[in-house]
Amino acid sequence: MELTRELSLLETATFSRRFPTREREEQGNCKVMIKTKNLTKVFDGLVAVDNVSLEIFKGETVALVGESGSGKSTLARMLLNLITPSAGEVIYDFDPKELRRTIQIVFQDPQNSLNPKMRIGEILREPLLIHKMGKGKERVRELLLMVGLPADYVSRYPHELSGGERQRVGIARALALEPQCIVLDEPVSALDVTVQAQILKLLRDLKEKLGLTYLFIAHDLAVVYQLCDRVVVMHQGMVVEEGSKEKMFFAPVHPYTQKLLSSTLEIKNQLFS
Ligand code: ADP
Ligand code: MG
Repeated sequence: MELTRELSLLETATFSRRFPTREREEQGNCKVMIKTKNLTKVFDGLVAVDNVSLEIFKGETVALVGESGSGKSTLARMLLNLITPSAGEVIYDFDPKELRRTIQIVFQDPQNSLNPKMRIGEILREPLLIHKMGKGKERVRELLLMVGLPADYVSRYPHELSGGERQRVGIARALALEPQCIVLDEPVSALDVTVQAQILKLLRDLKEKLGLTYLFIAHDLAVVYQLCDRVVVMHQGMVVEEGSKEKMFFAPVHPYTQKLLSSTLEIKNQLFS
């Protein structure tokens, strides 16, 4: 397989238009949208998320990386208030009553997250009905267009779509309520490499067009590199390192980040040699 531009692990061409790091925050250009303070979740004695304090800035794509079981999804679910923290808190820069509309989530496996008994049209209309946002039919058509799917997909069922198309529906549903922030929990991990690249491109385009903020959860650092501005590394429930993409990829300090990076490079080398 050829190492294409879309798939390259390290690429410097887009550095200049990349997002803000803390230095800029200090210059006052950067607004914190979500902040966690000592956030902790314990499941039956198992500390899944351990005392995590982090910030998500408006308009950035921050990647949350770490191996399976490191607590990424649990942290994400606390941000969305889908589960209650054992300790600590989440602070928003918007009215928490608007949480269900302001932050949306896209899951790894659209096969499981889309109701198989509902047509695509109904799946996309559901959040509009719940939030009394009217204009159902027209909005559904608009959403399909935004994610690059034909309008006649409204009458299809999820199983009649490919994996990539289903993930497009997952993204369209997340967009339905005009959120400001989308948590993408391993959104391309279940897709093959070509489809991954298409979905990543879609996510980049949508972000640019709609001015979204992304929390992008992934274990594949090559994917992270293509999309993110900043990286937060989790290990055994704790944040062990965070920084700009440039710092994390070129000058990681924590041994665990170095290990993650070198294992990704090894896999890439095997794939592309
Ligand atoms: P990641 O998303 O990084 O793979 P998770 O947040 O899903 O990690 O899980 C972190 C840890 O918490 C794992 O050990 C997992 O088994 C455990 N865990 C997650 N959700 C639950 C739950 N509902 N009940 C009990 N343990 C859980
Ligand atoms: Mg997970």
